[in-house]
Amino acid sequence: MSQVVGEYRNAIAGDWVESESGARFEDRNPATGELIATFPRSTAADADRAVAAAHEAYQSWRLVPAPKRAEILFRVAEILRDDKRELTELMTREMGKVVAEAGGDVQEGIDMTYYMAGEGRRMFGQTVPAEMPNKFAMSVRQPMGVVAVITPFNFPMAIPTWKLMPALVTGNTAVFKPAEDTPLLAAKLMEIFERAGLPAGVVNVVNGPGEVVGQRLLEHPDVKVISFTGSKEVGIHVATTAARTLKRVHLELGGKNAIIVMDDANLENAAEGILWSAFGTSGQRCTAASRVIVHERVYGRLAAILVERAEGLRIGDGLDPSVQIGPLINAAALEKVHRYTGIGRDEGATILTGGEPVTGAGEGYFYRPTIFGDVERDMRVATEEIFGPATSLIRCRDLDDAIAISNRVEYGLSSAIYTDRIDDAFRAIRDLDTGITYINAGTIGAEIQLPFGGTKYTGNGHREAGQAALDTYTEWKSVYVDYSGRLQRAQIDNQ
Ligand code: NAD
Repeated sequence: MSQVVGEYRNAIAGDWVESESGARFEDRNPATGELIATFPRSTAADADRAVAAAHEAYQSWRLVPAPKRAEILFRVAEILRDDKRELTELMTREMGKVVAEAGGDVQEGIDMTYYMAGEGRRMFGQTVPAEMPNKFAMSVRQPMGVVAVITPFNFPMAIPTWKLMPALVTGNTAVFKPAEDTPLLAAKLMEIFERAGLPAGVVNVVNGPGEVVGQRLLEHPDVKVISFTGSKEVGIHVATTAARTLKRVHLELGGKNAIIVMDDANLENAAEGILWSAFGTSGQRCTAASRVIVHERVYGRLAAILVERAEGLRIGDGLDPSVQIGPLINAAALEKVHRYTGIGRDEGATILTGGEPVTGAGEGYFYRPTIFGDVERDMRVATEEIFGPATSLIRCRDLDDAIAISNRVEYGLSSAIYTDRIDDAFRAIRDLDTGITYINAGTIGAEIQLPFGGTKYTGNGHREAGQAALDTYTEWKSVYVDYSGRLQRAQIDNQ
């Protein structure tokens, strides 16, 4: 069935407008090739218009009391909740992830929107004692201005809400540039902002290539914050470009996450966690478990369980609720994953299962869940982000060896260990160099009320979610109120 859902436009200053280029690009279903919609292929001039709109809207939005801003976000959350089913189905059609996962993605958006709306009546600052009599000292969060939100394809609702909601509740305005492969959910979110009564220009959406629209946002002098999630390569470019205008840059980049399985672990439980973490979203998660570091005493048993279960996973169009693995996002992603199969084979890894596209799958970009065995810790398949349904089994001797292997890679997002030994678990919590560690669970499953992000090349020290997210979108202002009625000199030696 080929059905065009719509011809969408950019959202700028409260209007839905064409790009000045007049050009459009296609949004297609990666499971079927079906054309879903077309979007404007925007230019730097379109980005400039959006920044101008956001800049103007900022002058009044920053003065709206935070609890009133939050009331609009609460309405957004309610509409998201009411429309969850429709949004979930659209996401599966556009991005490919199976409906249960797409529903989880929308739910994260709902949860984050409620959570950040709650900040409208919290947003704590500090009051501290002043060192002089009749003087009051406090700090308050202040918004920063126009925030550019640049997102990847793999969480089309969750990631935009993780960025937009803290930005908005703290009084910033935004220009949102969604991934070229998933513009539809961005348009739907924008429609929901409008229905909730968000004033014109507070959020603006500009579609198009990162190298053009995104690039202009990195350079624009009126953009004060860049919140970027995507690949390491583009992230480094974002940071270096934005440094020229001293923007604040929040980067959430790649991962090469490992699950450690110790010899005392419950292997059944570990296998379930590995399959879910390695092959969920077809491995297209920054937190995907693309390495399994397994104690040599249980390597054979775990490998056998994993292979048998991986071969039983149902691959297909995610709209079918019995399907467990959907397609990859596009042809280039499929080609990249298959190239890594060749790289692994050439390096001497064993392909225990998978290692090929699904044949006869029509127009869809389906790849078999792939497990590399006998992987050495420094092989490319053990160190580079593949971003597909592929994981590497690496033997370890003991906990120290396992932690050393886990920490060897340049990324530091998520890590996990299966063990019933409490001392091993706590050593792992302390020594695994990642932003997130799970004990007796896989590498995915973050909740929105704790900080999310990673160390090393996974980011630049900022965090999404939880209270930590507020730090990206606010400046601290320190305020001193002197009610003594006379000059009291601070920072002068009065002794
Ligand atoms: P990508 O880097 O190719 O694209 C991300 C965004 O950057 C897109 O919107 C793209 O248009 C834009 N972009 C590209 N060039 C640009 C430029 N010159 N200037 C400004 N913007 C530009 O990433 P992707 O393939 O969409 O997503 C996959 C990557 O994202 C993986 O590496 C994955 O690990 C990472 N990711 C990280 C997290 C996290 O929280 N750490 C979450 C999800 C995905």
